[in-house]
Amino acid sequence: MNIILLGPPGAGKGTQARHLVDTRGMVQLSTGDMLRDAMASGSEMGKKVAKIMEAGQLVTDEIVIGLIEERLNAESGAGFIFDGFPRTLAQADALAALLAKLGQSLHTVIEMRVDDDALVARITGRFTCGSCGEVYHDETKPAAVEGTCDKCGSTDMKRRADDNEDSLRTRLMEYYKKTSPLIGYYYAKGDLRPVNGLADIDEVTASIGAVLS
Ligand code: ADP
Ligand code: ADP
Ligand code: ZN
Repeated sequence: MNIILLGPPGAGKGTQARHLVDTRGMVQLSTGDMLRDAMASGSEMGKKVAKIMEAGQLVTDEIVIGLIEERLNAESGAGFIFDGFPRTLAQADALAALLAKLGQSLHTVIEMRVDDDALVARITGRFTCGSCGEVYHDETKPAAVEGTCDKCGSTDMKRRADDNEDSLRTRLMEYYKKTSPLIGYYYAKGDLRPVNGLADIDEVTASIGAVLS
C-alpha cells in the first residue's frame, strides 16, 4: 500500500509518517529529509539546493524526482509513504510513471487539512532529534526530559534554518501556487481522503488509521 501525505509545511506529515513506519513497517520517503542529508554531506547537489531551501522555495522537479527514483524499488515491504513529495503536477505525473514501471500504484492520498493560522506556531516551535529524526514541538510535543530525545536518548536537538516566519511565508506561497493543485488532481482520480490535521497528534493518527483500514 503506497500513500501520499499531502499538506502545507507544518501540517504534521513527518510526525504521522514516523508513526506509520513504527506501527506498520512502511517506508518513509521524505524528499525534505533527503535534501537535508545531501546538504549535510556537502555534496554538489546539497550545496546547490541550500540557499533555495533556506529561502523556502521549491527545488527543481528534476532533482527531487531523481532522489525518489533512486529510492523506489520493488522491496517496499508494507509500502511507501511519500512525505513532502509530490509537490508539483510534474512530480505527481513522474511518481505515477515510476510506480507503474514497478507494477505498483498509489492507494490513497491523505490530505492533512489545517488552518494557515496554526502553521506559524507549528513551524516556529518545531525541533527534531539530530540522531533518530524524532519530531518535537516546544508546546504540543515537548521531550519528557528537556533537551533529551525520548526515543534514542540523544541530546543533539536541532532546529531547521528554514523554520522561521519569513521562510514560512514563501513556503506557503509555493504551496498554494504549485502544490495545492494536487488536491484537485487526486480528488479527480478518486484517491483523495481528507483528515483534520488540527486535532491532537493521537487523534490525527487515529483518523489516518481509519482511512487506511
Ligand atoms: P515541510 O516539513 O515544511 O513541509 P520539507 O522538509 O518537506 O518541509 O521540505 C523542506 C524544503 O525542501 C522545501 O521548502 C523545499 O525547498 C525542499 N523540498 C522538499 N521536498 C520537495 C519537493 N518534493 N519538491 C521541491 N522542493 C522540495
Ligand atoms: P510537516 O512534516 O508537515 O512539516 P511536522 O510533522 O514536522 O509537519 O509537524 C510540525 C510541527 O508541529 C512539529 O513541531 C510537530 O511536533 C507539531 N505537530 C505535528 N502534528 C501536530 C498536531 N496534530 N498537533 C499539534 N502539534 C503537532
Ligand atoms: Zn532521537
